[in-house]
Amino acid sequence: MPDIAGLAESVINLVTSLLHLRLISKNKEDIKVKAELKKNDELPLEVLLRDGVYYKLDGNGPYCTGCYDEKLKLIRVNTLPDRFHQRFAKYKCPVCKATYRGEC
Ligand SMILES: [Zn+2]
Repeated sequence: MPDIAGLAESVINLVTSLLHLRLISKNKEDIKVKAELKKNDELPLEVLLRDGVYYKLDGNGPYCTGCYDEKLKLIRVNTLPDRFHQRFAKYKCPVCKATYRGEC
């Protein structure tokens, strides 16, 4: 705990903690709402399926479909480095090692 001399600092700390708490509880609520919706509806809520991979609604991605479907984790797939590999697959998930052709 801060001492009396650090009153201003403690106020700042308090405000910062409150902001953090608000952020944390908001995130928890979001996660809870998503989890509840997920139970009722198996479709991904925050991603779009395009060319066999997921993209976020804001255009970020692509992400592994397997990891999201199984664990609700957005794992960004790696782009394979050269044309030889890309003849077979364009993207590879670093976690589950799934490969994706992506757009042709
Ligand atoms: Zn994966």
